[in-house]
Amino acid sequence: TREWQLVRRPHGEPVDADFALVSLDRPEPQPGEVVVRTIAMSVDPYMRGRMNATRSYAPSWELGETMQGGAIGQVVTSRSDDVPEGALVLHGAGWRDLAVLPAAHVQVVEPLPGLPLSLHLGVLGMPGLTAWAGLFRLAAFQPGDAVFVSGAAGAVGSLVGQFARLRGASRVVGSAGTPEKVAWLGSLGFDAAFDYHDGAITDLLAAAALDGIDVFFDNVGGEHLEAAITAFRTFGRAALCGSISNYNAVSAPPGPRNLSLAVGKQLSLRGFIVSSHADLRPEFVAAVSGWLREGSVVARETVVEGLDSAVDAFRALLSGGNTGKMVVRLAPD
Ligand code: NDP
Repeated sequence: TREWQLVRRPHGEPVDADFALVSLDRPEPQPGEVVVRTIAMSVDPYMRGRMNATRSYAPSWELGETMQGGAIGQVVTSRSDDVPEGALVLHGAGWRDLAVLPAAHVQVVEPLPGLPLSLHLGVLGMPGLTAWAGLFRLAAFQPGDAVFVSGAAGAVGSLVGQFARLRGASRVVGSAGTPEKVAWLGSLGFDAAFDYHDGAITDLLAAAALDGIDVFFDNVGGEHLEAAITAFRTFGRAALCGSISNYNAVSAPPGPRNLSLAVGKQLSLRGFIVSSHADLRPEFVAAVSGWLREGSVVARETVVEGLDSAVDAFRALLSGGNTGKMVVRLAPD
């Protein structure tokens, strides 16, 4: 099998020498185990935290250890009565072309007629549930709310804006890093969008949000969070999902300078981790698969081909090379 290992901890932006693609003998599956051939694997921003020695919310990867992450594949050998050969399964052992796993560590999924299986890694998977939980539970979205989402052309952000629109937001505003992404947000039904490189984010948001926002879904942190605090109306609610603007930072970034406004505006700023909200999965899957079937949600992917390109795909994700969900495809569905 071929697997990607972390061989050095990145300092700032990850570079090629931090990773190695190694060939290993495939372990024989033991009773109760399955061998899964990877069809597609996910690269996600939280993986940057796992490359550091300091623990983020997910444990650090050890050096010389094969990296992990969401993947979907097909069972090619089964020594378990629970999971038959040929089954399509989701698991957490990405970054390799073959995974040998206890059957209890894989989740059998159904094919998606007419749609790529990799949607289980995006709109129907962890990023989709993140968008759902953050918007509807953490930010307590209500119809009529004006919503701002940062990182709006990414996997999570593009879904947040679409979910808000489908559930009756009065206005949906997004920010993203290129004019093409801003135009795409318009095609998704965002009422306004801006490129955050075009000036001070506080000014860009004030112009796009008109008379303020009720909900902020933050994927970016830093200046975006500060701008949202200024734009909030009374009783504004933020779901703090990520702060990708500082994942490669080598020193602590400054906090929002206007945080004291949170008192007078009576704001709720709530951080969250999706795994604490797994109870929402049934309602999320029911609603979002319905929207997908009727074509009211667009689940765009940026697909990079081949295990060899997985590190490049991860690095491109951190620098905006994706629109929608970044996926690495190893084999056809
Ligand atoms: P995305 O698909 O949004 O990809 C990351 C995007 O971040 C890039 O495409 C890039 O787009 C943008 N970006 C990179 N650097 C910057 C910067 N300095 N300023 C602004 N934008 C930047 O990833 P995901 O949808 O998977 O994740 C989005 C966020 O959600 C991340 O912060 C992630 O850590 C977080 N997350 C949190 C979870 C939780 O449980 N709390 C679960 C899943 C994700 P652009 O071209 O617009 O700059």
